[in-house]
Amino acid sequence: MTKKILRGMLLGLILGSLINNFASHIPWVQDYLVMGLFHVLGAMFISMLKMLVVPLVTFSLICGVAGIGDIGKLGRVGGKAFAYYMITTALAISMAIGLASLFSPGEGFELAGAAGSSFVAPEAPPLTQVLIDLIPSNPVAAYAEGNMLQIIFFTILFASCMLMVGKAAAPLIDLAERMNEVMMQVVNVVMFLAPLGVFALMAKTFALQGIDLIIPMLGYFGVLVLALLLHATGTLMLLLRIFGKVNPIMFMKKMQTAQVFAFSTSSSNATIPVTLQTVEKRLGVDESIASFTVPFGATINMDGTAIMQGVATVFIANVYGVDLGLTGYLTVIGMSVLASIGTAGVPGVGLIMLAMVFNQVGLPVEGIALIIGVDRLLDMIRTAVNITGDAAVSTMIARSENGLDMYVFNNPDAGIVTDIDLASKPEKEKEVY
Ligand code: ASP
Repeated sequence: MTKKILRGMLLGLILGSLINNFASHIPWVQDYLVMGLFHVLGAMFISMLKMLVVPLVTFSLICGVAGIGDIGKLGRVGGKAFAYYMITTALAISMAIGLASLFSPGEGFELAGAAGSSFVAPEAPPLTQVLIDLIPSNPVAAYAEGNMLQIIFFTILFASCMLMVGKAAAPLIDLAERMNEVMMQVVNVVMFLAPLGVFALMAKTFALQGIDLIIPMLGYFGVLVLALLLHATGTLMLLLRIFGKVNPIMFMKKMQTAQVFAFSTSSSNATIPVTLQTVEKRLGVDESIASFTVPFGATINMDGTAIMQGVATVFIANVYGVDLGLTGYLTVIGMSVLASIGTAGVPGVGLIMLAMVFNQVGLPVEGIALIIGVDRLLDMIRTAVNITGDAAVSTMIARSENGLDMYVFNNPDAGIVTDIDLASKPEKEKEVY
């Protein structure tokens, strides 16, 4: 399945780029193919992924809390996840600022060409509001809107109370377990359609997004991609080796499918079903940990986004000739770590966070207009890095909590989605009934 998805991605990428170069002026190609077939198939596929997120997170979180069994451990896992997520994000952005300062992208950049464009910063939530908004005043509204932090808060509270109630709540836990099993199968069915969905998403993006846009921005683009790669294949892998005591290569191999999903959807949130399945079934992280750390990470942990902010800050500071100094850069690090908590993993949110950061350090927010042209492509890459960070932290926490099944982790074929999964599962049925 991974191969099929990869093939879909490559095919979409090639076809999209060909259309962009040779057929962008042909009306029927634009109307019927790009904005017709590709757009519709891609949008349907993203909706399908999003459709899975709320029920999957809810049921799997209830099972997770029930599986952990004691509130103390839950608190410990929560605390660890928060600390790890913040630390990895801080490491990511510090490295990005260091690397960008070394290469100094943006020095001597021609501002004139971009002067006509402008960027209106979207409203960013103040931190106090982020804290208040953790609590859903109306859980039904939280579910309806898919507000992940609120859903996590309410579900953990509710599931913890199930534990406190004990016997009376046992049938509910049982129900959640069955629902979870069914939802996992729904994920498998959707995954079956993934090669086509991923193909359509890639074809549309690349048909609309000319690669030549990158050329004037090559410095910014190059340093950013380098920093993203270094974080994903360097920092995270080193942390996995040291704290997770696992083989990082095996980890990376197993992450491929989830990374392709993140890349083609540009949304950590929409990728939650795939990340969750990969982390639990392929990497062997205990459900009680993954069910919490994955959706939590998709919402608050954005290493790739933080890296973009680090490089963008140095780039814009260079372009406008502003010297931020050490305090300025430290503020940038602190701000983007905090900003990542309040903004959800959806496409393009990184720019909103960047506006918050710029406001704080006094960089011109309209500078964002300069980088907006290449942001679509970079969003894809950084989203893949974001979810890699979520999975790496989940693995490390699981290891420290004795919740990592090394047999599953070391087995290259564990949890692979195959066509067989689409058939009914007699053994499972026997188990349930
Ligand atoms: N698209 C990213 C994500 O969903 C967020 C961003 O950097 O814009 O993780």
